[in-house]
Amino acid sequence: MPAPIKVAIAGALGRMGQALAAVVAADPALELVARFDRPDATGEGLVSVAEALAAAQVVIDFTSPEASAALAAQAAGKGVAVVVGTTGLAPDHIRRIGEAATRVPIVRAGNFSLGINMLMALVAQAARALPQELYDIEVFEAHHRHKVDAPSGTALMLGEAAAQGRGQELAKVARRGRDGITGARPMGEIGFSVLRGGGIIGDHSVTFAGPEETLTLSHSGLDRGLFARGAVAAARWVASQPPGEYDMQDVLSFGPTSI
Ligand code: NAD
Repeated sequence: MPAPIKVAIAGALGRMGQALAAVVAADPALELVARFDRPDATGEGLVSVAEALAAAQVVIDFTSPEASAALAAQAAGKGVAVVVGTTGLAPDHIRRIGEAATRVPIVRAGNFSLGINMLMALVAQAARALPQELYDIEVFEAHHRHKVDAPSGTALMLGEAAAQGRGQELAKVARRGRDGITGARPMGEIGFSVLRGGGIIGDHSVTFAGPEETLTLSHSGLDRGLFARGAVAAARWVASQPPGEYDMQDVLSFGPTSI
């Protein structure tokens, strides 16, 4: 059996950092060699970022946009691969992470759920295969009552996958809500609808509605640990990649070009 891959966790005191530590510790292919958080953080077993990067082959980073951009550059300087899950990155953060990825392999994804990434590939494939003259595409999502934005970023990613499958630009065909006298549905439209309530972790579905049949591809999140497991799968994969910027479709090898 090959030696375990040495993994460090950034943002170790955070919600995702704690979930990641549990998943890494339970994975025999990985060895948790360091946990670190903000430079001023105190906590049992925490080390400095310098110590973590000296010990690790891969660092998993779910922190904040500025922290992630800075860490990517530091990791690149030490030859450490990176898995970035932080969201809300501005163009400058993305540029700095991209620059680091010219020196080390980096996986960056806004959603590390294996199922959602599988769903995106399936949606692109179905959108390519089912003609828009016959099949209308509708994206539905449901989340807990605390969520403040709509449609969810993941619903928009699914819409992008559908638009990409049809060779369209989502912004030109998206219908983000309907109310009142809307008129008949234009051909090629990609519609979004949203439910908010209770404690729903996240449900997404994409329906292809034809005149004689309806195909619905759907996903339900049952536990937030699914993001940690996806990031850990990315850490196992990225350790043996050449420098470059990758996403979960690359990790899972079922990207639009591979099916
Ligand atoms: P959190 O606030 O619970 O944890 C963030 C942690 O990062 C904190 O402990 C904070 O102290 C630490 N941190 C901040 N600056 C740091 C630095 N310079 N060095 C080291 N650590 C630092 O947040 P969370 O819920 O764990 O989410 C973290 C990020 O991950 C958010 O951007 C969130 O949107 C994203 N997220 C992504 C996915 C996905 O699938 N891609 C899933 C869940 C959350």
